[in-house]
Amino acid sequence: MGTYRCFKCGKRVDMDLRYERVRCPFCGYKILVKMRAPTVKTLKAR
Ligand SMILES: [Zn+2]
Repeated sequence: MGTYRCFKCGKRVDMDLRYERVRCPFCGYKILVKMRAPTVKTLKAR
C-alpha cells in the first residue's frame, strides 16, 4: 500500500502499485508520483 499523487490532477491516490499498469481513478492519467509518508520515524527501543 502506498500513497501517490496524480501528476495531472494532483489528487491523492492510495493504492498498491505492485502492478505497472496504474491509472489515476479520477482523471485516468497514467503518471503517479509517490508521496513521502508523513513524518513517521521508526525507532528501535533498546
Ligand atoms: Zn488524476
